[in-house]
Amino acid sequence: MRLPESLLKSLEGVKGFDRVAFQAAHHAGEKLTSVRFNLTKKITDAENTLPVSMPVPWCDAGFYLQHRPSFTFDPLFHAGCYYVQEASSMFLEQALKQKTNLRQPLKVLDLSAAPGGKSTHLQSLISNESLLVSNEVIKNRCHILNDNIIKWGSANVVVTNNDPSAFKKLPAYFDVVVVDAPCSGSGLFRKDPEAINEWSTNNVALCSQRQQRILADVLPALKDGGLLIYATCSYSVEEDEAISDWLVKEFQLQNEPLQLKEQWGIVETSSPLTHSKGYRFFPHRVKGEGFFLACFTKTHTEDVTKTKPWKFEKATATEAGILNTWMYRTELEIIKEKDVFFALPHQLVADVMVLQATLNVQYKGVKLGEIMKGKLVPHHALALNLLLAPGILTTELSYHDAIKYLQRQEMNVQPVKAGWQAVSYQNQKLGWINALPNRINNYYPKELRILKQQNDSHFKKL
Ligand code: SAM
Repeated sequence: MRLPESLLKSLEGVKGFDRVAFQAAHHAGEKLTSVRFNLTKKITDAENTLPVSMPVPWCDAGFYLQHRPSFTFDPLFHAGCYYVQEASSMFLEQALKQKTNLRQPLKVLDLSAAPGGKSTHLQSLISNESLLVSNEVIKNRCHILNDNIIKWGSANVVVTNNDPSAFKKLPAYFDVVVVDAPCSGSGLFRKDPEAINEWSTNNVALCSQRQQRILADVLPALKDGGLLIYATCSYSVEEDEAISDWLVKEFQLQNEPLQLKEQWGIVETSSPLTHSKGYRFFPHRVKGEGFFLACFTKTHTEDVTKTKPWKFEKATATEAGILNTWMYRTELEIIKEKDVFFALPHQLVADVMVLQATLNVQYKGVKLGEIMKGKLVPHHALALNLLLAPGILTTELSYHDAIKYLQRQEMNVQPVKAGWQAVSYQNQKLGWINALPNRINNYYPKELRILKQQNDSHFKKL
């Protein structure tokens, strides 16, 4: 692996950078794999399911694995029991824990959210009364974001597909804005050596300009006193400390230092002009890839978003009666849109209506399904969601049948009863089937089905 000389040169003098150790860490070819568990879908026997080695020190639910199994062939991966995420990125947790009151209802925006690593993490950290808006500007990256949000199984997330400039229409609306910015990507060279060929100083300069544009567009949406978390996976000062300086000088933001434990190996840097603190992850110092994060609070006020009177079609008493037999929680509002029902936490409905009037909303709350001939045809999202009634008829599958189910192939199961029911693996729901007298209809979404051939032995032998 030949690292660009101009990158190495540009990093000389950056605190924590050590040319020899940095190059050695790249040449060693170490492949790290880490996951973050979904604590609301607890795996009973995680250590025996995944090859877990040790915790990620800055994230309570983060763990390194001894090797990388083929996650495609783990039904618990499809059930949303964990998210495969690079360890350095999990440092986001420290920013949230140290700089916000997570017991309060917060409105959080994850501006560049696909595929959903930080969004699923944010969702796990905020309270159920809080709202997460998970935005992705690139339309065809929204699907994977949606799928990951559905798998995670929460009710308080809205997925949007908007350019950052659209958020100007929501002045002083969010308590927290996370900008995990598109960047030149040097921090991921170990994972993706091909990216070295695309790296150039010219691209660093372009990324830096784009980061400024994105930040300038989204800042009006942050409340006075609200928290901005800025992150990149680039080592370049132009995309990291220089952006911190620009934020403080241009927008009078206040930099917010974080507390670190020395043994974490994370480097606190000071930006050249405003001495803003930022946090750098170097692969020769941490078990993780290259990453940068800095926090700021906003110190001036904008006009606040006015919540307009909102209107939506509610489920009728009969419809609500049908739907309630499928749901566990009752403090939910059921909304009807073109015959499709969604559940939203009651206290978030007004906000979701504001978002619907302002943004290009792709998904919200929990999609329940449609009522046909007096019966619910449940949507996949309901099976994977925590609000599914615990007593719902469920057929537990063997490993072999769970994989067949996820491939949308025929299974060798005998459901106890006929009709719509969930299927589970190790008690974690995977989706729906409809058992008819002569066959079983598999309702696992076609677009999610496993197409790959299984040759990995890790999960096969479980
Ligand atoms: N936060 C994500 C996660 O943790 O899974 C990773 C985000 S990735 C570093 C950067 C994201 O920025 C990509 O999803 C990309 O599509 C998006 N992006 C690209 N151009 C953008 C732009 N002009 N404005 C906002 N986001 C952009």
